[in-house]
Amino acid sequence: MKNKHELVWENCLKIIKDNINVQSFKTWFEPIKPVKLDANSLTIQVPSQFFYEWLEEHYVTLLRKTIKRELGDDAKLEYRILMDTSNGTKTAPKTIDVPNHREGVYGTNEVSMPTIFSSPMVKNPFVIPGLKKIHVDSQLNPNYTFDSFIEGDCNKFARSAGMAVAKSPGGTAFNPLVIYGGVGLGKTHLAQAIGNYIKVNNSTKTVLYVSSEKFTSQFLNAIKDNNTNDFIHFYQQIDILIIDDIQFFANKTKTQDIFFHIFNHLHQNGKQLILTSDRAPKDLENMEERLLSRFKWGLTTDLQTPDYDTRISILQKKLHADGIEMNEDVTRFIATNIKTNIRELEGVLTSILAQATFNRQDITLDLAKKTVINFVKHATKEISLDMIQKTVCDFFEVPVEKLKEPTRKRQFVQARQLSMFFAKEYTKSSLKAIGHQFGGRDHSTVIHSCQAVRNLIDTDEEFRDSVEELKKRIELSL
Ligand code: ADP
Ligand code: MG
Repeated sequence: MKNKHELVWENCLKIIKDNINVQSFKTWFEPIKPVKLDANSLTIQVPSQFFYEWLEEHYVTLLRKTIKRELGDDAKLEYRILMDTSNGTKTAPKTIDVPNHREGVYGTNEVSMPTIFSSPMVKNPFVIPGLKKIHVDSQLNPNYTFDSFIEGDCNKFARSAGMAVAKSPGGTAFNPLVIYGGVGLGKTHLAQAIGNYIKVNNSTKTVLYVSSEKFTSQFLNAIKDNNTNDFIHFYQQIDILIIDDIQFFANKTKTQDIFFHIFNHLHQNGKQLILTSDRAPKDLENMEERLLSRFKWGLTTDLQTPDYDTRISILQKKLHADGIEMNEDVTRFIATNIKTNIRELEGVLTSILAQATFNRQDITLDLAKKTVINFVKHATKEISLDMIQKTVCDFFEVPVEKLKEPTRKRQFVQARQLSMFFAKEYTKSSLKAIGHQFGGRDHSTVIHSCQAVRNLIDTDEEFRDSVEELKKRIELSL
């Protein structure tokens, strides 16, 4: 026969089930165990502190109403929290009573929370299930260190903030440390450098690096497999949590929710959080305000595009690391032309080295130029019609206005036709829009011009060379 508390809880569950969706019910109510009933006070056991907080935050009203219906107006609900130790010993999970002296039974504030025990059963989403001992692989790339992170004006502040955190994780005001900046500027590298530093110098700490996408998909899997608790437990054991590219949390309300709780838990326990984002927190859209406000608790610092000197240093450092010598002209040429980000800088260098090795060729300025042009071509930057007109006119030494006039002088016609041809090649403008930019000519004129240029490319070698040279100039003038 069932005990009284079991019956009461069973009745409560029936009501709750009708009021929330199946998944939430499974996740948040099935794991609850009724423990005892003293007069009108029901005690339920929940799997974790986090679980308890979640219930209080999301289901408090429902719980309150339900319990009152079952046990009358002065009904009380007590929680018992099943905890896990984080010292790795295999103590069996213990139950602890939430102290009884407190009054506001439904409030979270008065509850003094018990110490945390750890169970060897917690599932680690990073390891094969079934492994008993929790070993967290940090998922760090060992090459991303402070040593290999070149300092420049563009990153000085972020780097030293990162170093401060690395030396004293959780012990500075920089918690969370939010690093933001455009693609390829070194966010991942710097965030991981902090992690690697801690791993080497502070081996008792558990460091974990995870991209926000991975975090999200692990969370969704956990929901699907009904083990959200394991997921949460796992993350709550981390001492230094690095989450990369948090802008991907945008619009994902459930993930933001769970992250918010993990964040709070870690922060409250003096654990270090390091977050990166491709934009400043204030520009993150579709993010919960409460999350954004948490980010302000710590330090937000940005990485800027590298200046020329830093670009040179980065190239030199990479060359040195690879034991390769390169003419200074070449280094300077690359650093002058590849400005937007460091990933691109590295890409060009790798590509030049690969071609030199592959073709058993010396690393010459010419080889560098070809490679750079190729790279720039694939960059997603916009080439404008104005820029094309200017480049072509500079080349033929004719004034830009002549492109827009009706004149039929040969040299002007050629510049005009070539500009139209490049406009069609390089821009997304319609034929009509292109014609408009050439003194209001119509689209058939543009078609005709492109055709004329193609014919000449096929038949006239000198013309073909001019076209090649112009292409280079257009691509390089980006
Ligand atoms: P992000 O995460 O901002 O897109 P990454 O951290 O992936 O950029 O950096 C892109 C590449 O540039 C990486 O290979 C990284 O090692 C390199 N890099 C970035 N910043 C520096 C730096 N200051 N010194 C040396 N290499 C850097
Ligand atoms: Mg990155």
